[in-house]
Amino acid sequence: MTNVPELFGSQVFNDKVMKQRLPKETYTALKKAVNSGEALDPALADTIAAVMKDWAIEHGATHYTHWFQPMTGITAEKHDSFISPNGDGTVLMNFSGKELIQGEPDASSFPSGGLRSTFEARGYTAWDPSSYAFIKDGALCIPTAFISYSGQVLDKKTPLLRSMKALSRQAVRVLNALGQTDVHHVNVTVGPEQEYFLVDKTLWKKRKDLIFAGRTLFGARPPKGQELEDHYFGELRPRVIAYMDELDSELWKLGILAKTRHNEVAPAQHELAPIFASVNVATDHNQLTMEVMKKVADRHGLVCLLHEKPFAGVNGSGKHDNWSISTDTGENLLDPGREPEKNTRFLLFLSAVMKAVDLHQDLLRLSVASAGNDHRLGANEAPPAIISMYLGNELTNILESRQSGKAYTGKTENKVQLGVESIPAFMSDTTDRNRTSPFAFTGNKFEFRMLGSAFNIACPNVMLNTSVADVLGEYADVLEASTDKLAAAEKLITETYAKHKRIVFNGNNYSDEWTKESEKRGLLNLKTTPDALPLYSRDENVEMFARHKVYSREEIVARQEILLENYCKVINIEALTMIDMAGKQIIPACIAYQKTLARTAESKKNLSFTAKTELSLLKKIDALTASAFAANDKLADAVVRVKSVDGIEAQACAYRDEVIAAMREVRAACDELEMLIPASEWPIPTYADLLFSV
Ligand code: ADP
Ligand code: MG
Repeated sequence: MTNVPELFGSQVFNDKVMKQRLPKETYTALKKAVNSGEALDPALADTIAAVMKDWAIEHGATHYTHWFQPMTGITAEKHDSFISPNGDGTVLMNFSGKELIQGEPDASSFPSGGLRSTFEARGYTAWDPSSYAFIKDGALCIPTAFISYSGQVLDKKTPLLRSMKALSRQAVRVLNALGQTDVHHVNVTVGPEQEYFLVDKTLWKKRKDLIFAGRTLFGARPPKGQELEDHYFGELRPRVIAYMDELDSELWKLGILAKTRHNEVAPAQHELAPIFASVNVATDHNQLTMEVMKKVADRHGLVCLLHEKPFAGVNGSGKHDNWSISTDTGENLLDPGREPEKNTRFLLFLSAVMKAVDLHQDLLRLSVASAGNDHRLGANEAPPAIISMYLGNELTNILESRQSGKAYTGKTENKVQLGVESIPAFMSDTTDRNRTSPFAFTGNKFEFRMLGSAFNIACPNVMLNTSVADVLGEYADVLEASTDKLAAAEKLITETYAKHKRIVFNGNNYSDEWTKESEKRGLLNLKTTPDALPLYSRDENVEMFARHKVYSREEIVARQEILLENYCKVINIEALTMIDMAGKQIIPACIAYQKTLARTAESKKNLSFTAKTELSLLKKIDALTASAFAANDKLADAVVRVKSVDGIEAQACAYRDEVIAAMREVRAACDELEMLIPASEWPIPTYADLLFSV
């Protein structure tokens, strides 16, 4: 049996290792630098690097790498070995402080959205000591930020760190103004729940769409989908449990707090949830988790699909970003306590989140926009594209009563009696669950549910942290200037609710009534990625990010462009894959089968049979094949046409309106053909094969 405490963090240069191995003064200085966010004395870096190297070599490492998160959405690494020539034909193992602190990868092949001109192709990676170094694939991985020669951000970590700092600064101001002077730092905590699919690798290899696009572009509905709701929390089949066991072990070695595992709603769909951590660490860990998920799957003859919508007709995969803020004195600022109605501090922070979400609906929405996630949002399985916020009845009533000036009459005791004496009665949460809300208060944290499963969680958290920091900054201004702080805080709570209550919705977000109601309330409904992304560079957004030193205007414009470009590229790859599969696999298979039918009909007629079945089937297949062929041609034309559309925003719209529409037609004809062609003649594994194979 695995000794989990021994295994946990065994590949991580964590606090325990540092305490044991670093000289005491170095350890203290490093801790101080990490906690205060100040720069580390470079003189200490040599000592730390040497200790790190020895530890890494003892643990089997031969190389080191700066590990960073460029705008590709995945992580990047370039391994360098520790070797250094001795001059006598032998080598030493070396690692200097400079190599630890800074790297200079060529940035020219990473997306930069025009930030990096070719004459200054250098990018810099800079050590982030707040996230532990670890060993992966024989290399010591050093988490780093990635910036251009002129200091502009080229990655996802840098803005995240900046936004954490902004939020901490403003939250501390609010707390200090309220008299809590012992708080010096406020931390953002995040627990991302990760959904994924597992399919058999031998089947996966036969589907170019899964290989190139990560999702199926064809596939008729199987006789059974998720309608019996028998997969959610269902028993874990042996192959799946073997996979999950190894996955947990591998994650534990990397110090990742993998906690919960279960089957999800769709067949072949599963979920992993870690225990929450500081958002920077949670982001690094989620990136690693996705990588390890894929690697471990391979060892089990499986493929882990992280795409948001691998299969039409069953649920897609998301990622729930559980978000909260807590003080360096250990208090969760979103914990309502036993009597939330009397908890002014809690209500004030809650109000700040409410206002931030209402004012920056566009940022939250666009932070979860991608070609993949467009298939989920608003499709009756994931929250709609409309941002709203669930507070639950109790908190809503508390805020309502304050606004109306009436006394709050108290909550109804939520004691649940089971009517079975042997089972103790329990208290239910102050907030019930509303699974349809995109942004739900769930007891002592918010759960942002719109993220796609393949996302890097940094961007949505940058939006949340910065927007909330901005409101807290305004609150701090008011509180610092007032003499009666408590009265001022109370006033802020009531005013905020009166102004921003339109964002609160406790009902069913999937209903058509909500779409109509939200429109009346003036909430945004940005249905697709090309609708959402252009709002990134809206003046108010640019000003807010600049105020908190998270992004400059150029950095935002660059990001907007990279994301729109990515949208176009993804759809282009999907379209080309579709043209290839329809043209080289599906249509030829249909033509071949028509030959069989025609021959059978002919020989039957020679024997004086009518061959009615063969002929009518032949007719149907012939007509559908012709439609598929024509649709495929139309798609090929559309792909060429959109290439010449000027301007990235217009091009993204053209991909959505022309290419995706044309893809739908190809799929419709091919899926119908699948129902008519014998299984033995169909050239690719079916949905039934893929979804029920593991
Ligand atoms: P569920 O949402 O399925 O009911 P939980 O509420 O237990 O599950 O937790 C979901 C996720 O929220 C977990 O990753 C958990 O660690 C995380 N979480 C719990 N408390 C906090 C917090 N204060 N800040 C951030 N994440 C949290
Ligand atoms: Mg949850």
